[in-house]
Amino acid sequence: MIQAPRGTFDVLPEDAARRGALEHHARRILERAGYRRIETPAFEATELFARGVGEATDIVQKEMYTFDDGGGRSLTLRPEGTAPVCRAYVQHGMHKLPQPVKLWYLSSFFRAEAPQRGRYRQFWQVGAEAIGSAEPEADAELIVLLAELLEALGVRELRLRLSSLGSPETRAAYRAELIDYLRAHERQLAPEVRARIELNPLRAFDSSDRSTREAMRSAPKLLDRLAADDAEHFARVRELLDDAGIAYDLDPTLVRGLDYYTRTLFEFESARLGAQSGVGGGGRYDRLIEQIGGPRTPACGWAAGVERMLLAAGELPLAEPVLDLYVATQTSASDAKRGGGQVRRAAFALALDARRAGLAAQLELAGRGLKGQLKQADRLRARYVAIVSEPGHALLREMESGEQRELELGQVIHEVLRAGHPA
Ligand code: AMP
Repeated sequence: MIQAPRGTFDVLPEDAARRGALEHHARRILERAGYRRIETPAFEATELFARGVGEATDIVQKEMYTFDDGGGRSLTLRPEGTAPVCRAYVQHGMHKLPQPVKLWYLSSFFRAEAPQRGRYRQFWQVGAEAIGSAEPEADAELIVLLAELLEALGVRELRLRLSSLGSPETRAAYRAELIDYLRAHERQLAPEVRARIELNPLRAFDSSDRSTREAMRSAPKLLDRLAADDAEHFARVRELLDDAGIAYDLDPTLVRGLDYYTRTLFEFESARLGAQSGVGGGGRYDRLIEQIGGPRTPACGWAAGVERMLLAAGELPLAEPVLDLYVATQTSASDAKRGGGQVRRAAFALALDARRAGLAAQLELAGRGLKGQLKQADRLRARYVAIVSEPGHALLREMESGEQRELELGQVIHEVLRAGHPA
């Protein structure tokens, strides 16, 4: 039997309801704040991600599904949404619109990662980007919107990690300073940290080795090295979050797998998730649009994993699908003589008319006997069943009470409508 590829999954109808509820909350929360939906293609020129996400990142080095389009151009299935949205912003001249341009998306992304719980090769993200604003209110508002979405979904045991990266120049100077510090304390460091001093000096902060932790306590912190305007921006973001009652942990060791961030950086984690604890995160990326060939434009945004949010979410109140009317048929001896055609045509027309009148209606399609049809209507939790047994008439049965009466076919829809929709 052919199976879906490793690291992918089917969204079955029973999963679709929770995902629908998530989409509903995302749309409500983001559109109320002026974000408008955007969808970009599933693949892009590889160069967009190489330039946008960064050549040196794990994503670009190891995780992209890249292929030749047959004409010598290299294409890549999108591994993330920010670079494509910025590409669309530049391509469609959105910098000429009143700024900021606020966009949101709900799309699938592709990364060749080792699959495990909460980590897939095709996964979905909800994302929001505010392009064209340098104000700290934009950063803070985005964080609050993601917090609201997680709250609405009942994602619990959350922690918000917050940091600021300053500018790439500050970061480069800080990196050199940290490397000098690590070299000077080399004897106190665990071998695996020592081996990666040049490659990834920041990882030293994440080490669980006691002696390394001791040494890192007095290591220089990037947050103490921010330029005055970056520090001021960060202080204002924190002030706004404090005013909004959003709790966060200042975490100068926070790193994310994308190169484009400047200034604010944040991530929500849920203790409900185990190893893959990141639910969603983002930050400011003031240089990205210039990097992909657009005008210099300040921007910030976030992306949150749909599957992770659903794994960490509580019960999502789901609206039960309502079925107002099930149209059953019972062929009489006289109709059977004529091949049952009249009754079935009348039933077909009744189901269509019911839908046109705004009712949820289904027609028997599996050739069941009357008993089987009633059972099916019951499984579907139909409110009414109309049993058509001769072209002009039906027996309308209210399923809950079992009450039934003979009606002219034309009366059936009126009767169901008159009874109203359940709350
Ligand atoms: P990132 O684009 O790496 O910042 O990821 C943002 C969010 O997307 C993460 O916090 C996860 O919730 C989700 N995510 C990232 N990679 C995967 C993956 N391979 N499978 C499922 N969800 C993912």
